[in-house]
Amino acid sequence: MTAPLSPCAAPGCARPALSRGLCGAHYQRQRRGVSLERPLGATSGPPPGEPMSQVTTHVPLESKRALEAHAEHSALSLYALLRRILEEWLEARRPRPQ
Ligand SMILES: [Zn+2]
Repeated sequence: MTAPLSPCAAPGCARPALSRGLCGAHYQRQRRGVSLERPLGATSGPPPGEPMSQVTTHVPLESKRALEAHAEHSALSLYALLRRILEEWLEARRPRPQ
C-alpha cells in the first residue's frame, strides 16, 4: 500500500507534494527563484473591466495531457497556458500598419 501524498507546502496549494514538500509547479518556481506566494497561473491579465467571454472546446485526450504537462513544466495553470497560447495566436494575426 502506498502512503498518501502530503499536500504541497506553498500557501493555498492543494496539489500533492512531489519533491521537497512542493508540487511540481511550485518546485519549478522555487528552483527559478519565483515567489511561491503568487497564485499559479497568474498572468498580467486584461485591464479591469475588459469584457471577457468563456470559450469551451474539445480536444483529444492526448492533446489535453500534452498541454497539462507543458503547463506543469511552465508553472502555469492549464487556464493560463491556454490563454497565453490564444493571445499569442491572435497577436501573430493582428493586422500591422503598412
Ligand atoms: Zn503547489
